[in-house]
Order: sequence, then structure tokens, then C-alpha cells
Amino acid sequence: MDFVKKDLIELVDKYFGLSEEGLEIFKENVYSPDIAKEYAQFNLDENLRKYWYLDSKLAEQIDEGWILFKSVFKKFVKYYNVTYENFTNNKIMINKNSVKLQKALTTNPAVSKSNFDLDGNHKDSVKNFLETVNARKLPTKQKLYLVFTKNPIDMLFCSTGKNWSSCLDLTGEYNYWSGLPTTIIDKSRGMIYVTDKTKKRVFESGYFENGKYFDKKIDKMLIRSWVILCEKGLKIVGFYPNDSLNKVKIIDLINQNIPNKFLLIQNETSFISKYPITLIFNINEDAQLIYLDSSKLIEKENGVFLSSSSTSDLYFFSRRKGVKYGNSVKDIDCNLYLLYKENQNIVEYSKSFGICECCSEYSHDLTEVNGLYYCEECVAANFFVCDRCGKIEDKEEMYYDTDGETKICYDCYLNNRKQETANAS
Ligand SMILES: [Zn+2]
Ligand SMILES: [Zn+2]
Repeated sequence: MDFVKKDLIELVDKYFGLSEEGLEIFKENVYSPDIAKEYAQFNLDENLRKYWYLDSKLAEQIDEGWILFKSVFKKFVKYYNVTYENFTNNKIMINKNSVKLQKALTTNPAVSKSNFDLDGNHKDSVKNFLETVNARKLPTKQKLYLVFTKNPIDMLFCSTGKNWSSCLDLTGEYNYWSGLPTTIIDKSRGMIYVTDKTKKRVFESGYFENGKYFDKKIDKMLIRSWVILCEKGLKIVGFYPNDSLNKVKIIDLINQNIPNKFLLIQNETSFISKYPITLIFNINEDAQLIYLDSSKLIEKENGVFLSSSSTSDLYFFSRRKGVKYGNSVKDIDCNLYLLYKENQNIVEYSKSFGICECCSEYSHDLTEVNGLYYCEECVAANFFVCDRCGKIEDKEEMYYDTDGETKICYDCYLNNRKQETANAS
């Protein structure tokens, strides 16, 4: 574990551009034994995880695909006494013959139709609906486990090395992952995931020398969600890549055998996180959180907390600029592969970007207009190029040439006028 901790700190130190103070805070709190008592009651293992084996009885309860299937093909399920095993094996016995579900549903329309809102071809409707169900069903070919984790590497790599995309992918398009250190050490935060316990690769091989140390330490996460410990219970933020798990049943399951049971906080309910958040500042004196779904930060006497909100946003703080809570951060195109190649941290790297005078967006492609710099979109929205002299001018200063079509600047327009006057006299 010390081995992984060292590599984790090295990775964060190298690429996240934390200030000395920020890195100290991260070091102190990452793999901290000071786990919230509500989470500690799970008796986490040495890797700060708790595993629940999902036998088919438990899987049946939390599998949203199955719940959806049952609700739509109610009559069919009842008539053929379709079990969860039938559902996961995708076949049932009809007259001693094994029949695939899709076939059974389409060739016995009298049984399946009644609960199914059909528009057009029954076969196609069933097929389309089964695709929706299959996208949400638990993969049950393997032995599955539900896991609660406080392990920082699980959280750091929760979206990296996946076949689905998320803004927290360290190798993705933008820098939204910069907020992970603050999120990882948040005492109220945890993560729930389903795994078959196979270990995943986090980086394509060859990119990081220290990347390989994480490879065999992390379970392949089939489905995962952040959780937030709140005053009144536990908030399950939302499952990725799809809502395959039933939140109410998940809470039932994790409540087994613990003395202080959790209440499920539904999305729309107002909530406030249990413990204050420690912001980690970078060398630029800026701090960032990950994207907050339906939540925002609020300040109380004893610190800054996460609270419910009707909006979702990224939060950015700058000691330099005196920015406190609720300022949206601008994204830049940057990932860990790039930083590795450039041998820079994100803060140094972001300095190579200019900021658009108009929209404040970071860009590598700014155009100078009258001594100020603008991004491509703002140039297109606000300026035009004089067809005569090539100067870039404000659209409000746009004139037409004598042909009535060619766009020209005021100076060229004046020249035209002079020319006309000269010709006339
Ligand atoms: Zn712009
Ligand atoms: Zn001109």
C-alpha cells in the first residue's frame, strides 16, 4: 500500500501543479485513517474497500434492466413464469423447447402485447425495447460484487481506461479532472461500483513509467457512482455509464449488518454534506472541484460544504483573484498523455494558452484585433475582414463597396468617397 501511495502522490505532484501547501494537504489526507465513522462501520479492508458478493438473488433486486423488463412485459413474465435466471440467460422453456426471449416475445404477441405500447411493427418495437433493457442490465456472466470504496486510486482513475467517456477521464479531452485531488480527500465522499474483480489497465502501456504500478491495483468498474455522506443520509449521485442499479435497493443492501443505517437521499431532496471540504490550491493559487451534479458549495461557520442546487456546474476558486464560491471554471484541452509528452504540469501547460478578451475562453488559436486577442468564435461573431485591405474590424464598422456586396472597412470606404469626389470634379 505504501508503494501505491508513493506513486499516487508522485503522479499528482507531477501533473496537477499543486502548491507546496496543497501537496502537503493531499499527502496528509490521502489514504487517511481518519475515515468518517459512518463509512468506517463497513469495516473496510486494507485497501479501504468493502465487497458484497452479488448472488443472483441480490443482483435480481438491484438490476434496473430486469426491473424495466418486468414492468413492461408484465403479462409475459407472469404467463411464462419468467425468472431472473431466464432473463440473464436470455431464454425460457416453452413446450419443453428452449426459446430466446426476443423470439418468445415476438411470436407470442397475444401474451406480450398487452403491456407494450406498440407503434408499428411489433417485432421491431420488441427488438428496440430489448436493446434499451440490455443496455441497462447487469452483466451477470461473471461473479459480481458491489463495492464501497474510499480508496483514492479508485477515485482518481474512476473514469480512465474505460470504453465509455466521462469528463473525469485523465486521458480525455478536457481538464475537468483537475478537481480530483480536492474531491478524493473529501471526507464525505465515497464511491460505489460493481465489479467482476478483474483488474483493469488504467493507461495504454508505454505512456507512463509510474502508470504501470496502478494497473493491477484497480478493479474493473462496470458501473459506478460517487456517493456523498450527508447530514440526513447518503446521496448516490448517479450511475455511470448507465442507470443499471436501483438506488433504493442498493441502500437496502449496504444497510445490512451495520448499526447506523443510511437513508437514501433522492436527487430532488435538499441535502448538505456532513463534513467540510478542504480545498487544495495549485501553484497559481487556484482550486477546483470536479463537476457538481445538482449541487453547489455553501459556506457555514465551520467550513465549506456541498449543498443541493437546482443547477450543476464546475466550481473554481482563486486566492489571487479573490474568487470564492460558485464561479465556473473554463475548460482547456488537456490530458495526462499530453502533459506526459510535454513533461509539464497542468498549470504550466495552461500558461501556453491565451485567454479570449471577449468570452474568457482558453485558446491556442487567438487572433489579434486592435491590440486585443480573441478566439475564433468571437472573431466570427464580432468582426469581419475588409475585402479590400484585409484589416479585421468591428462588424458595426462594416461598409459596402460600390458594388453593394463587397464588405469593406471605414478607411476603405472613405478612400472610395475621396475617389468619387476626385472623379466627379
Ligand atoms: Zn472568445
Ligand atoms: Zn479596408
